[in-house]
Amino acid sequence: SGVSKHRKIAVVGARNVGKSSLTVQYVESHFVESYYPTIENQFTKQLVLGKTNYTLEICDTAGQDEFSLVNTKSLIGVKGVAIVYSCVNRASFEIVELIRDKILDQLGLEHIPTIIIGNKIDLRDAASNGVITKQEGMALAKKLDAGFVESSAKMNVGVEEAVLQLLKRIEGLDQAGGAA
Ligand code: GDP
Repeated sequence: SGVSKHRKIAVVGARNVGKSSLTVQYVESHFVESYYPTIENQFTKQLVLGKTNYTLEICDTAGQDEFSLVNTKSLIGVKGVAIVYSCVNRASFEIVELIRDKILDQLGLEHIPTIIIGNKIDLRDAASNGVITKQEGMALAKKLDAGFVESSAKMNVGVEEAVLQLLKRIEGLDQAGGAA
């Protein structure tokens, strides 16, 4: 007879950073090499945190660019956001703050629980130029008062941790949390 809660999160970020791949890896436990890229998808997943059962509604946003980052409709009811960049794409890293600001603006909030995810770490060693280091990612997360995880949707690294960190932030359970 546990408590059951419903929480909605949105996965946002530049194109091609792995938003769909991360979402599918989390929800369905597999990696799809060529996921149909242009549709927006809603997923639900059950998980337990502490003594609470959660139904997580995950909105995998699609089709954003720098000018129309997130569809306002898909943000309705969102309690937390995962902002994804690719460790091997500096442009995707550089728009993280802009995306965060735009979401706050659209929601009319000054703060929203956020996790920043540096995805595609499996490609970082092989890449030479423009890679984003863990230190850079952490510094940005600190600046934005967000959590931080590096991930590989392909290797299933960091995916579950990212969701748990975000949910803990939403529920005010994060231990590491910066000064808010
Ligand atoms: P989205 O546009 O942000 O939803 O990105 P997708 O999930 O469609 O991924 C874009 C491309 O990057 C696809 O070809 C994926 O297979 C690939 N991809 C996504 N995540 C990873 C990862 O962690 N490692 C590698 N090597 N490729 C990835």
